[in-house]
Amino acid sequence: MEELAMDLTGEKLANYIFKKFGTGDVFKIAAMAEIKIAYAAWFPVTHGEFDKQDKSVTINLNSSMEKELILAHELAHFFIDQAGLRLTRNQEELIASDFMRVLQEK
Ligand SMILES: [Zn+2]
Repeated sequence: MEELAMDLTGEKLANYIFKKFGTGDVFKIAAMAEIKIAYAAWFPVTHGEFDKQDKSVTINLNSSMEKELILAHELAHFFIDQAGLRLTRNQEELIASDFMRVLQEK
């Protein structure tokens, strides 16, 4: 993950992850990265949650967003965290959303 620089964009992260794991399938990527996926239902203020201690993503079944997209977004948070990048909340959300969009096109 050292190649990821401070000028990270969602597109760069998506390309990096696609190359690293050889797939754009977020369920396969999560399995290879050993991230557990859980499902729960809560009032949909958020679509999903990422727990870095537990290495797990919980998908909100009440969200109208597709599960693949929720997982992609949360995975972006995981990879950003793993790379040790310090970003503002807004920067990180922007990258996560772009990552999700670019990866989905692959
Ligand atoms: Zn987010």
